Amino acid sequence: MSRSEPAIGFVSLGCPKALVDSERILTQLKVEGYRIVPSYAQADAVVVNTCGFIDSAVQESLDAIGEALHENGKVIVTGCLGKRGELIREAYPEVLAISGPQDYVSVMQAVHRALPPRRNPLLDIIPDTGVKLTPKHYAYLKISEGCNHRCSFCIIPSMRGDLVSRPVDEVLIEAEKLVGGGVRELLVISQDTSAYGVDMKYAARTWRGRGYRTRMTELCDGLAELGAWVRLHYVYPYPHVDELMPMMAAGRLLPYLDIPFQHASPRILKLMKRPGNIDKTLERIGNWRKLVPGLTLRSTFIVGFPGETDAEFEALLDFLRAAQLDRVGAFAYSPVDGAHANDLPDPVPEELKEDRLEQFMTVQAGISATRLQRKIGQRLRVLVDHVDAEGAVARSTADAPEIDGVVRIRDGVHLQPGVFTEVIVDGADAHDLTARCGAAS
Ligand code: SF4
Repeated sequence: MSRSEPAIGFVSLGCPKALVDSERILTQLKVEGYRIVPSYAQADAVVVNTCGFIDSAVQESLDAIGEALHENGKVIVTGCLGKRGELIREAYPEVLAISGPQDYVSVMQAVHRALPPRRNPLLDIIPDTGVKLTPKHYAYLKISEGCNHRCSFCIIPSMRGDLVSRPVDEVLIEAEKLVGGGVRELLVISQDTSAYGVDMKYAARTWRGRGYRTRMTELCDGLAELGAWVRLHYVYPYPHVDELMPMMAAGRLLPYLDIPFQHASPRILKLMKRPGNIDKTLERIGNWRKLVPGLTLRSTFIVGFPGETDAEFEALLDFLRAAQLDRVGAFAYSPVDGAHANDLPDPVPEELKEDRLEQFMTVQAGISATRLQRKIGQRLRVLVDHVDAEGAVARSTADAPEIDGVVRIRDGVHLQPGVFTEVIVDGADAHDLTARCGAAS
């Protein structure tokens, strides 16, 4: 590509869903002949894909816009914070354009206005699998946009709208291309993976000559045909999650569930507008583990939700101890502009929130560490992410990229990123494992 082609700098903030949006925009930019450059100085304009989920993310996004304006001057803003254009305009009236999440068309129009393309996109061949910001051997597969729930602490539905699922054949074709292009692990993402297809009344489609409905379990059935690792994120605890267990037990789907519970007290869950029968949840977890003994459970929780009493917080800790989850993320409740939970009475004082978060994390750190310790001596299949002079860094079926731990293989310098290998675990701390190569023993 000639140096005269217009150059775009790209800043991608936020969650894996925002990353998928960034990949789509970058793919389109490349198709139209724009160069993507790694510094503000080389760029003719900069696109900032923002996040607006919690207040700290809003600040991070605003700071990123400010930095891009200062360093480059021509800035196009998109993503979740774009839904709150007035906030951006107030801070930075000079930004060239503002659009919301998944609004690829507006981003491209703004880019065209700032820097007309030099090539006719119709003359180019569209790259089969597009641009991926993740390493070549794993990829996020976005199956839907938006959400039909109205959790009181969340403004995602007002930013991204109600659930819109992608037809199952479209998702399976994309997954097939990704795997054909070298992807070894597919990470299924959405706002609510278990609701997949509800908006399409689970419409039936055909893929590889077989009928599939646009529904979570049938999607998984199709994905399992591809021979890659398939990992499910953001699985809302609906009853039909139970249907996944036989597929996990049969090795068709990774024995891993990222299932946000958020709390354990029935009253707080009600205030959060989330389902919650804790005894039932514990019973289900027990059943899942019976069916899939190697199951890894990851969840997220909010502590210090408005009105949370000492007793309700204790109930949450009791749940943690009983559920013995493998990986847990927790946040002290922080009001999000526009969320209904802000109107609830009895906010928990800041100091008490932090105190509870610390107690919560201490209890969970003990549980996570004990569960990892039990893996010492086990033989695991891992996927290598990265190799350097210190050895290889890999992940087992229990570790999602970015959010979970890793398996460090000290004698793995000879390995290649993107290969599967067998290791024997020889050490553990609260997050990660260490291991040695386990082949030919
Ligand atoms: S399930 Fe709740 S927390 Fe998740 S995106 Fe939907 S409304 Fe927000």
